Amino acid sequence: MRTHIHEVFNSIQGEGIYAGSRQVFVRFQGCGLRCNYCDSADARTRPPQCRVEKSPMSRDFRVVENPLDINILKGIIEDLWCPSAMHVSLTGGEPLLQSDFILELSDIVSHPLYLETNSAHPEMARALKDIIDVASCDIKLPEHEACEDYEGLLADELETVGVFCDCGAETFVKLILLPGTAAESIRRPVEGIADISRHIPLVLQPAAGKRRISDRALAEMQDLASGLLRDVRVIPQMHQAMGWL
Ligand code: SF4
Repeated sequence: MRTHIHEVFNSIQGEGIYAGSRQVFVRFQGCGLRCNYCDSADARTRPPQCRVEKSPMSRDFRVVENPLDINILKGIIEDLWCPSAMHVSLTGGEPLLQSDFILELSDIVSHPLYLETNSAHPEMARALKDIIDVASCDIKLPEHEACEDYEGLLADELETVGVFCDCGAETFVKLILLPGTAAESIRRPVEGIADISRHIPLVLQPAAGKRRISDRALAEMQDLASGLLRDVRVIPQMHQAMGWL
């Protein structure tokens, strides 16, 4: 089996509740959304070649032809695995669009799988629910302008969160906050998460960039969400703090 992959590399997770942990990242091609803050626009294209890091965190890459064979990918993952690695991070783009490939990959790779998803494909989440160890689920806000039908997207995203939560995967939700995001904007997603479980951790992540959301707005959102959920954290993207963006 083969698929189009953008990059495979070893790095430090920069977002969410596992920020700071080492992972081997497999960045898949393709995404059906169009978020206005997207920093992975190249992952929405179909690249003729895949960039493969030569050794863990070397930042030195070689090029491999796409589509990449699944057994070659397994070998690359093993070469990039290191003593501190905790997961293979399946990211994108949107990895759930390649659910058949990921299902087969899980048969030949024994490391824990960490899924970074836009949560827009609950039917594919169902197909993968038994092989995912950690599900990092994004929920979009209206001001992200991710698609035309925000109501439909929100319903799909909450369904995806429910699928992973119900099957026992370690599940958390990430909301990206833009400089103009107001507390009211996060109310419906937060209520939807709380309807699934009050125990799902929620990460409020200010969008990377020069303009920042005000401290007061952040505090207001954290207070609002904490009225319904047990664990609400503000975690900025670490790669920006480290000067990697
Ligand atoms: S879901 Fe992710 S990859 Fe897709 S457009 Fe939004 S930010 Fe970019």
